[in-house]
Amino acid sequence: IPVVQVQDCWKIYKLGGEIVRALKGVNLTIQPGEFICLMGPSGSGKSTLLHLSAGLDRMTKGDILIDGVSLRQLPEAHLSALRHEKIGFIFQSYNLIPALSAVENVELPLMFSAVNSKKLRQRAMQLLERVGLGDRLHHKPAQLSGGQQQRVSIARSLVSNPSLVVADEPTANLDRQTGQEILELLRELNTNFGVTILVSTHDPNVAKYANRIIHLSDGQIVQEVKS
Ligand code: ADP
Ligand code: ADP
Repeated sequence: IPVVQVQDCWKIYKLGGEIVRALKGVNLTIQPGEFICLMGPSGSGKSTLLHLSAGLDRMTKGDILIDGVSLRQLPEAHLSALRHEKIGFIFQSYNLIPALSAVENVELPLMFSAVNSKKLRQRAMQLLERVGLGDRLHHKPAQLSGGQQQRVSIARSLVSNPSLVVADEPTANLDRQTGQEILELLRELNTNFGVTILVSTHDPNVAKYANRIIHLSDGQIVQEVKS
């Protein structure tokens, strides 16, 4: 069963008198274990498609299924629960809490869950080791480089063992070399741990990391390249 099924999806924004057709009948199926990259010019609909696929926003027409659950009529509370349970988020600005240490930031999504705090600490430490930060557990975000902060946020995205990790321009604030290291890490997590990943990026070098590249233009998928 696919992780995400986007079915003839439309997103129309109404801003004052202006109507923007951000997505125009998009179809996309993401299978478990895929690493998919969304590419395309600014304004082509990448963020909109990424946000809709993660249940962060509502489509105007069509449907999206996450792990087989239709989002179309799903009440907000269920949608929120589904997001917390099934989706991991990586942001271009990392969105770490400055007052918390790396390990506490990773624990945060499950801090108020039923998970036992010793188990949670173990899991957070394990994830930080997995992203190469085993020796930075108690550092605060300000004591870490941009690349290290993004690694913390990647570890945080994995703490609930999500079906899908979405990353909107995860390398936008990093220099080229560090950006490549982050993409390399995502690929490692994908191949070694089967994490399903959907990334939007401008980085043309991403081709070598993804197993499928989807090109958007003006709200439509115009090309798909598998590798
Ligand atoms: P990309 O991520 O490829 O740059 P977006 O998905 O952000 O593209 O935007 C697609 C189109 O939808 C653009 O024309 C953008 O201006 C418009 N858009 C995006 N978000 C909103 C919004 N919240 N309200 C109105 N228009 C929006
Ligand atoms: P709740 O469902 O409890 O109201 P949110 O909807 O704010 O919580 O957050 C659910 C998940 O979606 C969180 O992991 C959060 O980081 C992520 N998220 C919230 N807003 C955005 C956004 N604008 N873009 C990307 N991810 C977001």
